[in-house]
Amino acid sequence: MRDDLGVQHRVDEQGVVHVVFDRPGEKVNVLTGPMLEHLAQLLDEVGRREDVRGVVFSSAKAGNFIAGMDVEAIASFTDPFKAAEGARRGQAVFDKIATLPVPSVAAINGTCLGGGLELALACTLRVGSDAKAVSIGLPETQIGIIPGFGGTQRLPRLVGLLPSLDLILAGKRLDARRAEKIGLLDRVVPEPLLLREAVKLLLGHASYRRRRRRPAWQLAAERLAPARRFLLEQARKRTAAKVSPQAYPAPFRALEAIDAAFAMELPQGLDVEARLVGELVPTPTSKNLIWLFKSQGALKKPDGLGVPPRKVRRTAVLGAGIMGGGIAQLLADKDLPVRLKDIRYEAVLTALQTASKVWNDRVKRRRMTPREAARKVAFIAPTLDATGLSRVDVVLEAVVENLGVKQKVLAEMEERIGERAVFASNTSTLPISDIAAHARRPERVVGMHFFNPVHRMPLVEVIAGQRTSPEAVATVQALAVELGKVPVVVRDAPGFLVNRILMLYLNEAMRLLSEGVSIEAADRAMVAFGMPMGPFTLLDEIGLDTANHAGGVLEAAFGKRIGGGGQLLSQVVQSGRLGAKNGRGFYRYKDRRRTGPDPEVVRMAAAPGARDLPVETLQERMVLAMVNEAAVCLEDGVVREPRDLDLAMVMGTGFPPFRGGLLRYADAIGIPVVTDRLARLADAQGERFRPAPLLRDMVREERRFHPQG
Ligand code: NAD
Repeated sequence: MRDDLGVQHRVDEQGVVHVVFDRPGEKVNVLTGPMLEHLAQLLDEVGRREDVRGVVFSSAKAGNFIAGMDVEAIASFTDPFKAAEGARRGQAVFDKIATLPVPSVAAINGTCLGGGLELALACTLRVGSDAKAVSIGLPETQIGIIPGFGGTQRLPRLVGLLPSLDLILAGKRLDARRAEKIGLLDRVVPEPLLLREAVKLLLGHASYRRRRRRPAWQLAAERLAPARRFLLEQARKRTAAKVSPQAYPAPFRALEAIDAAFAMELPQGLDVEARLVGELVPTPTSKNLIWLFKSQGALKKPDGLGVPPRKVRRTAVLGAGIMGGGIAQLLADKDLPVRLKDIRYEAVLTALQTASKVWNDRVKRRRMTPREAARKVAFIAPTLDATGLSRVDVVLEAVVENLGVKQKVLAEMEERIGERAVFASNTSTLPISDIAAHARRPERVVGMHFFNPVHRMPLVEVIAGQRTSPEAVATVQALAVELGKVPVVVRDAPGFLVNRILMLYLNEAMRLLSEGVSIEAADRAMVAFGMPMGPFTLLDEIGLDTANHAGGVLEAAFGKRIGGGGQLLSQVVQSGRLGAKNGRGFYRYKDRRRTGPDPEVVRMAAAPGARDLPVETLQERMVLAMVNEAAVCLEDGVVREPRDLDLAMVMGTGFPPFRGGLLRYADAIGIPVVTDRLARLADAQGERFRPAPLLRDMVREERRFHPQG
């Protein structure tokens, strides 16, 4: 038998077959086609042997059982029938486990996701270790498909309808204790005893009767079709309130599969599952989501800057405002000691309070013990003076957005921090090279631009100034990954990448308002496009003063192409409207709740009269403005490649993931079409829409931003 496929086996003296997953040269196990075939052969052999008493499946990887099916293999299908066949083959292999003449057990020591869990579900029993690494779930809907190796059929049968909805529709993951509670695991044991206990349980299987029963009403609801359909309909409504079935069909199809789990015998249910998977795998949504998943993984790997990052053990955050407070919370959450400095004690206290709230919420949701929460807060050491900084490895600066202040703060720090410590600024608009202009060690100064709210937005722009060293860049890149973020390296250009592109979009929205389009119509159009919120809601959330400041910087750098809507924004800010934070913006608010667009702002926009434009026209103007600027950014080397730009827009602005990103969207429409529409818009609306030279070159050379597929 071949070992290089990652499936090894041996028979122990008790007649137990140990199947051990261990993909050579990889940190985690994923299932591949050849590996499944190999497993099938092995199972056939085991089934024929008479001296075997049971089978234990385990993994030799630390903290990982099986992370799922290889996404490349899923992405390679373009035909629904072939994709369904692929699912049927996987189902058939796992069916061999379920129909073995002897009992089987999965010994789960870490991540057990997707195909990994489906394998475990086909076993007679499942034992989990109590290690933190254990994370069990079926995240397939997050890549636009549903579980296809029996998961939608075996999970509901095992744990019931309601827990399955959470796991399959939302891709929720469980730790070992929670998995045991719903009956997904038969037992949780201390990590070092995992294999021993698994074998013990396996051999005592006949007398093992601890399986949890669901309450009678749940069992009845599952069996009675009208009751079950009622619960499924409720779930459908809850899902539809979050995502549209056209954009994200997978969770809706999952409901059909789960219904089949109760309405049909297993073989028929499996057939429904395979057919649905077959339909979903070739959809653009699934292709885009898989592409984003892979790209995110690639950006989280060290990217060969040629220098190792500096190991970060101690940190300091300067400025305990919205951003500094959020960054300090993130660092402490990863058990990194943080010195949090501000010049106002109220700021530090508020930051500590806000950070505690994040952990206390986790305590309330039973995701964390009160002790653990108290331990996290203790990582933050508040201070008003500049002591205790000599041994920090990284200083994250998040003081007010003012060049003079930032330069002064940097100069003070250089007196106190070690020679090799990195100074990372969270500035959103100031060039890193300007901040470092008078620095003694400009090579240690770098940009690390987080997005607001820090604990939710996954993007960090990493900015190298003219003299920044590769080590400083590598250090903040690695730190971002450690903090669970996706780092994208961008050039030290005004507005960097995301805010620059976003500003064109916001400006176009304000121009539309000046032409008589209503605030709500513009917002609705972009929500329909798939953005998490419309442009005016977003402006109110960002803060109109902040947006106006950024707009001013960009207008100064790029002139009318960027600006234009800015005039209106300045006027609105001058009228005292700062957005949601002071309850007055493009919308009006009462007790923090929005009451409707502000007619006074509409008057300021001085539109000649109300104007109804088709939703497609609104979307086209706002989105193509971004596509055009994205092309300019690529041309100017603001970002290294289309992949980075697409990921940054999805992670930094919530650009609809099902579209795969701004440039994948442009590719999908077709570069000639995009360029032609931009040219028409330029003629009708003004030069800001004139297609970027890169786009025209691409049309001539018949190129796309991304390779096809
Ligand atoms: P903020 O006003 O909430 O906080 C700034 C804090 O810095 C205040 O508490 C202030 O007291 C403190 N401060 C001022 N001078 C200081 C000094 N010399 N030493 C120590 N502390 C000092 O501002 P914010 O929104 O958190 O922004 C901070 C930085 O992050 C800015 O550079 C901003 O451009 C950037 N940024 C903001 C956002 C956002 O959406 N708010 C997003 C990304 C980046």
